[in-house]
Amino acid sequence: MITGVYWFRNDLRLTDNLSLLNACAEVDRLALVHVRDDDRRITRWGFPRLGSLRQTFRDMAVDGLALALDERGAKLVRPAGAPVAALTDLARQIGATRIYCEDIPAPEERSEIAALVTAGLDVRATWQSSLLDPEDLPFEICALPEVFTRFREAVERAAIRPRPPLLAPSVFPHSPPMDGAIYPMGAPATPAGPATNASFPFDHPVFQGTEAAAIAHVARYFQSKDPVTYKTTRNGLTGTAYSTKLSPWLATGALSPRTVFAALQAHEERFGASEGSYWIWFELLWRDFFRFWSEKHGAKLFRPEGLSRLGPPSHDQEAFDAWRRGSTGHPFVDAGLRELAATGYLSNRLRQVTASYLVHDLACDWRAGAAWFESRLIDFDVCSNQGNWLYISGRGADPRQGRRFNPDKQAADHDADGSYRALWTSSAVASS
Ligand SMILES: Cc1cc2nc3c(=O)[nH]c(=O)nc-3n(C[C@H](O)[C@H](O)[C@H](O)COP(=O)(O)OP(=O)(O)OC[C@H]3O[C@@H](n4cnc5c(N)ncnc54)[C@H](O)[C@@H]3O)c2cc1C
Repeated sequence: MITGVYWFRNDLRLTDNLSLLNACAEVDRLALVHVRDDDRRITRWGFPRLGSLRQTFRDMAVDGLALALDERGAKLVRPAGAPVAALTDLARQIGATRIYCEDIPAPEERSEIAALVTAGLDVRATWQSSLLDPEDLPFEICALPEVFTRFREAVERAAIRPRPPLLAPSVFPHSPPMDGAIYPMGAPATPAGPATNASFPFDHPVFQGTEAAAIAHVARYFQSKDPVTYKTTRNGLTGTAYSTKLSPWLATGALSPRTVFAALQAHEERFGASEGSYWIWFELLWRDFFRFWSEKHGAKLFRPEGLSRLGPPSHDQEAFDAWRRGSTGHPFVDAGLRELAATGYLSNRLRQVTASYLVHDLACDWRAGAAWFESRLIDFDVCSNQGNWLYISGRGADPRQGRRFNPDKQAADHDADGSYRALWTSSAVASS
C-alpha cells in the first residue's frame, strides 16, 4: 500500500496537470495538499516579501481548487507554514513515503525539493509549466541560445508545437485517514482587493483567481476578435482588453499555457491566422525562454552581476523608497508605480518604463526593483520577473548593454493626453 502526497505549488489546477495525473495513477492513498506559506518576512530592501494583493489572488486560486476537488469528492488539506516542515510533518503523520509536485526551475524552489529528499521522502517533481516540452526542443537546455530571437527561430525552424493539454483526473485515490483539526485552513484575516480602475480587477467575478474563471476568460477572449488586434493594442495602459490578461492565472498555475495555446489554435481556425494571433504565440515563447533560461543558469541569475561582467550595482535606498512609493517626481513613472501598488498589476509598457527608471535613471540595484515586483505583482513569476529585470539592467539575456526607456518620450508616445497620469496621480502611495 503506497501512501502519497500531492503538493500543489504554482500549478493550482486540475486540468493539464501531468504530475497530479501521475500521483493519482501510482499511489493507493493520496493526500491533496496546499501549504499556505504566509511569508511576511521583511526583505533586505524594507518591505514584506509577499504583499497582501498577491496573497489574496493566490488564496482565491486555492479556494477554487478546494471547491473543484470537493465537487469530485476529494478534499484539499491546507496547512499553513513553511512548506518543507508542513509536508514532512504531514507525511510522518499519515505514513506517506512519496511526494508528487511540479518542478520549478529556481534555486529556492529546488532547495525545497532537496530538503524533502534529505528528510527521506521520495519526491517526484515533474516539469510542467512551459508551453513547449523540454524534450521536444531542438537542443539540450544546456545549449539553449542566449538570445531570445535565436531561441524563437530555432523553435520555429524545427516546427515544434506544444503538446495538447491533458484532461483532469477522473478519479482520485482515497485520502489517508487524518485529523482535519490539525490542519486548519489558512485564510486571510482581511482579504485585500484592487483599487477601482484596475486593469485586472480581480474583485470582479470574471477576473477571480480560480481555474474556472481562467478557463472562462480564455474561452471569452479567444472566441472574440481581440486576438486579431493584439499586436496593436498590447502597449495599452488602461482597461481589461488591451492585452490578453492571462499572466495572473498562468503565474498561480490556475491556467496552463497549453490550454491557452489550444484556444489560440481554435481561434485561428475560426478567424484565420493574423499578426495578432502570431504575436500571442511570440509572447508565450518569451515566457518559455525565461523558464528554460532559468533551468540553464540557476542561481547565477540571482547574483548582483547576473550573467554579466559588470561590477555590483550601485544603490540609493532613499531614491528606491521614493520609487516604490510612486513619488520620484516623474509623473509617468509615479503613475505606473501607484497603479502597481494599488492593483497588483501593471502593463508591460509601464513595467519596462518603471524598471528602466530605477536602474538607469536612479542608479539603484535591479534586485531591489525585482523584489518590489515580487511583493506586489499578482502575476509574479520567478522566471519571468528575474529574466525581465536582468534584461533591462543589461545583466542577462540582452545582446545590448541593457535597455533604457526615455520616460519623457514614453509618456509622449503612450500617454499623449495625460489621461493615464491623471488617473493614478491622486492614488494613495504604497504604505509598506
Ligand atoms: C521588469 C518586468 C518584470 C516582469 N515580471 C513579470 C512577472 O513576474 N510575471 C509575468 O508573468 N510577467 C512578467 N513580466 C512580463 C510581462 O510584462 C507580463 O507577462 C505581461 O504584462 C502580463 O500581462 P498579459 O498577460 O496581459 O500579457 P500579454 O501581453 O497579453 O502577453 C501574453 C502572455 O505572454 C507572456 N509574456 C508577455 N510578455 C512577456 C515577457 N516580457 N516576459 C515573459 N513573458 C511574457 C505572459 O505569459 C503573458 O501572459 C515582466 C516584465 C517586465 C518588463
